[in-house]
Amino acid sequence: MDKFQRISLVHYHEIGLKGHNRSTFEMRLLKNLDALLKPFPVVTIHRISGRLCVFFREGTSFEEANKATDVIAKIPGVARVSCGYKCERVIDEMTEAGIAAMSEADSFASFKVQARRNHTDFPINSMDLNRIVGGNLSDAFPQVAVKMKNPDLTVGLEVVQNAAYVYARSIVGIGGLPVGSSGRVVCLLSSGIDSPVSTWKMARRGAECIGVHFSGRPQTSDTSEYLVDDIAHVLERTGCIARVYVVPLGNYQREIALSCPPELRVVLYRRLMFRVAEALAHRERAGALVTGESLGQVASQTLDNIRCTDAAVHLPVFRPLIGTDKLEIIAEAQRLGSFEISSQDAPDCCTLFMPRNPETHAKLPLVEEAEQAYPISQWVEELVEAAEVHDYACPSYKRRA
Ligand code: ATP
Ligand code: MG
Repeated sequence: MDKFQRISLVHYHEIGLKGHNRSTFEMRLLKNLDALLKPFPVVTIHRISGRLCVFFREGTSFEEANKATDVIAKIPGVARVSCGYKCERVIDEMTEAGIAAMSEADSFASFKVQARRNHTDFPINSMDLNRIVGGNLSDAFPQVAVKMKNPDLTVGLEVVQNAAYVYARSIVGIGGLPVGSSGRVVCLLSSGIDSPVSTWKMARRGAECIGVHFSGRPQTSDTSEYLVDDIAHVLERTGCIARVYVVPLGNYQREIALSCPPELRVVLYRRLMFRVAEALAHRERAGALVTGESLGQVASQTLDNIRCTDAAVHLPVFRPLIGTDKLEIIAEAQRLGSFEISSQDAPDCCTLFMPRNPETHAKLPLVEEAEQAYPISQWVEELVEAAEVHDYACPSYKRRA
């Protein structure tokens, strides 16, 4: 049994966090952590001067606390997370907790102590703490050198009002803002590589994300729907998606493909998708649409075509990847953990009824004229009606029927 309680200290960026803003941010992050750490032996989470502290149950192993720490690092709003022990504000206790933390660290040949005193009611300042506790730890690990510049290991020591926290493991977090602190958006989510990344980016800026997936059903199989569900589960691990609407678009694409000038098909499909997404956004009270488009990547992603699709809706359309190239997007998809899933082939509404030479410079009047042939608003109503809802765990999201 460990003498000290295991903790994870959650650090966040404080820039721009002032007054009311700050406590809203902290409360949101605290609630998100609380919900996402349900599978772990967590007793409670508290705010302690500029940090959130996750307290683990007595008997929690190093492995369990570490696993929880790895999850915490990926939760939006977390700038850094440190895994260690809580102890009393007494030098001997801090030393002992430091020894415990260092004993669990991977091999290291040099170290230093980095102390931070949050309350001047503790008489020893941080410089002296570094020296005193550092000296004690050096005595306990005589084979290890003390090194101020670039040591292999940094032992963090944070003294707050009623306690001290000591850790030897500290990892960089994903950063950003806690999901639920910047409103709600509707993300067009295919099973491709790009749109999961664009959704993730919005979630990391604090947006609650609702996905909309258009499948080619009944003209294609439902493979893409399974892949999108797998992708949503990846996003769900860190609370980055609340629900996904699956909309079977196949028959409507077929109608368009039968009579529309072939080169305009893609623009018409996309305008229909945007309109359905906008209708769902109104239902969800979401403030914007989000896509995974990147300028010039494929035929539909030219400035002219983007303008033509945007003209179909009133909501702002965000494209977080517009200036990003494919290799960067792939690297992000790997970081998210969606790349493998997205690399599987699935026919969806994009592969269905594709023309040989899609228009790359669509002109709005011609597009609008071609659209006259179809009962678009009736289709939008039917498609919204036909949408299937899949829910995922997003702590801030208030579910609507
Ligand atoms: P992705 O990798 O995200 O599939 P892409 O490179 O295949 O993108 P497009 O097919 O032109 O590019 O799609 C552009 C964007 O339109 C996607 O990033 C996504 O936001 C949206 N989109 C495309 N297909 C679908 C779909 N079947 N369901 C929902 N949204 C889609
Ligand atoms: Mg795609």
